[in-house]
Amino acid sequence: MTTKLIHIANPASVQDQELFGAAQIIREGGLVAFPTETVYGLGANALDEEAARKIYAAKGRPSDNPLIAHISSYKELEPLVERIPETGRKLAECYWPGPLTMVFPKSGIVPYGTTGGLDTVAVRMPSDPVASRLIALAGVPVAAPSANLSGRPSPTTARHVWQDMNGRIDMILDGGAVGIGVESTIVDVSGEVPTLLRPGAITVEMLHETVGRIEIDPAIQGPPAEGLRPKAPGMKYRHYAPRAEMTLVEGEGSAVVAAINRLVRKDEAQGRKVGIICTDETRDQYPQGLLRSVGIRAQEETIAHNLFAVLREFDDLAVDVIYSESFSQDHLGRAVMNRLMKAAGYKCLKVL
Ligand code: AMP
Ligand code: MG
Repeated sequence: MTTKLIHIANPASVQDQELFGAAQIIREGGLVAFPTETVYGLGANALDEEAARKIYAAKGRPSDNPLIAHISSYKELEPLVERIPETGRKLAECYWPGPLTMVFPKSGIVPYGTTGGLDTVAVRMPSDPVASRLIALAGVPVAAPSANLSGRPSPTTARHVWQDMNGRIDMILDGGAVGIGVESTIVDVSGEVPTLLRPGAITVEMLHETVGRIEIDPAIQGPPAEGLRPKAPGMKYRHYAPRAEMTLVEGEGSAVVAAINRLVRKDEAQGRKVGIICTDETRDQYPQGLLRSVGIRAQEETIAHNLFAVLREFDDLAVDVIYSESFSQDHLGRAVMNRLMKAAGYKCLKVL
């Protein structure tokens, strides 16, 4: 398959003519990758089981890992769900359009091929102008997981999408680098108490302020317990399995730097190629290893923005080992640490 690459001239004020071709592909059951404010998505008609099947095939994604249906206005939610609980309505009012996905009891029109066999459906209304206009022009809800091969870091530029998807999908819309850089927050509102299934840019602190009590799925905090099924099926997969063995180093700032330097010296002495994930604040403190700053520690949004690009770069550089500094678990830091821990297969070294 030849993959068309379409460059959007000015993503903030995208013209309908630039999106007609993409919208038609989606309506006809094909696959189009497009930018959203979180990461690039791989879109197909969410109501067409055959189109959903193509997404799983293009990504190499396990078919029990459900897809998020993307909409462009609140009225498109109703036909997809059996009911809209009060918490869902409140959260939509506060955070839609935006980086929040909610899980509802599904209606009959959403095929099990989209929901991975579940009786619930995950829905999001993105704020990115290209995403939003594309969904509106397609005229159908758009199932769109991250546009990477399963197991690779989520793509935050069209180049990342091209690396993974060239030849596997019909079209890629290049709308430049995304803003946020980590996937949407997922909240299950189908039960009595809203439950956080995946941390993202809409933080627990924000959700708590809007709806009061909120539970946190244990699958977010650590490796899935034997026999326990995480509520978001995707959380059981190791999202990013780098060729390199990755370790997160946790502790007080200078102790972390000292520990990483010690580990790097030892690995390099044994002929290993070592990557270090540091921050602007610490980049002068590592004399050895391949050093990449992931952003400014004091500005968490810069860390979220650069995280996946740095992980991809280390894959391209074929490093054998990665050591990463760690981050505080509040606000956006919770989402950053969740992605880092998954990338490291939860391998974490605590230093004093
Ligand atoms: P991705 O689209 O790659 O960001 O992944 C979508 C995530 O949403 C996966 O981790 C899924 O497990 C989760 N998800 C989608 N639909 C549901 C649902 N109905 N219930 C719980 N989690 C869901
Ligand atoms: Mg994904």
